[in-house]
Amino acid sequence: MTTLGAFLDRATATLRAAGIAAPRHEARWVIDAILGERRLDGARRLSAAEAERLEAALARRAAREPLDRILGEREFWSLAFRLSPATLSPRPDSETLVEAALSLLADRRRAWRLLDLGTGSGALLLALLSELPAASGVGVDLAPQAVATAAENARRLGLAGRARFAVDDWAAQETGPFDLVISNPPYIESAAVATLEPEVRRFDPPLALDGGADGLAAYRALLPAARRLLAPSGWLVLELGQGQADAVATLARGAGFTHVSTRDDLSGIARALLARQPGGAIGG
Ligand code: GLN
Repeated sequence: MTTLGAFLDRATATLRAAGIAAPRHEARWVIDAILGERRLDGARRLSAAEAERLEAALARRAAREPLDRILGEREFWSLAFRLSPATLSPRPDSETLVEAALSLLADRRRAWRLLDLGTGSGALLLALLSELPAASGVGVDLAPQAVATAAENARRLGLAGRARFAVDDWAAQETGPFDLVISNPPYIESAAVATLEPEVRRFDPPLALDGGADGLAAYRALLPAARRLLAPSGWLVLELGQGQADAVATLARGAGFTHVSTRDDLSGIARALLARQPGGAIGG
């Protein structure tokens, strides 16, 4: 029989030894997540069942598994997304893309048709559908397990009626047209993947991280796909890795897109690239 305070001390030491920064904070987050106790009573005795759940979570966190994966769920756009080993854990930075897309699809009542390339947990598409009540969309991913997780998320969020998910390679099976194509593609240079934090390198799927030798391979593949699938004057919104704005803008213009611009994330990093399919309205 151990107390919460004793567990906190031991968990802190274990996480420190595992190389985790701010180990006491992280130990408290584990306790909060597992027991739902924000106000920590150090003298409280843990039941055997509680101690077992805490120990299991602590062991996983000490192995550098992120807390959201231990819990199996992460919040994005204030919605809860289930995760699986095949899905990237959605990051707050990616909310920049949702904001940018919503600014382009200003008429919230329209039946916008959306496509999410490399949908993972479905976070981008489902966040948009949650804001656009008449819109519908398709999310594709190369990983069948990601597609299954995204479909489960759509059901849990009550959006399954307007979302379809499919295993596909940059939407080769789709015919469109779509009003908006959105994507958070893999953009880390292959050689840099090994230098990422263990939480990312060991637990986010390599398919969702590795952007080839120069980090731009996925953009080269998806830009022509987006050109083929977008309606005239449709919009493309892509996540960018740090420092990639100029290179991806050049690729987008080279692929025939117009109106290329970027939006910063909360850290001031150009995180979203916006580009428009030519055609349609005069001056478009
Ligand atoms: N944002 C992730 C990271 O920096 C990378 C995601 C991606 O490659 N699209 O770890």
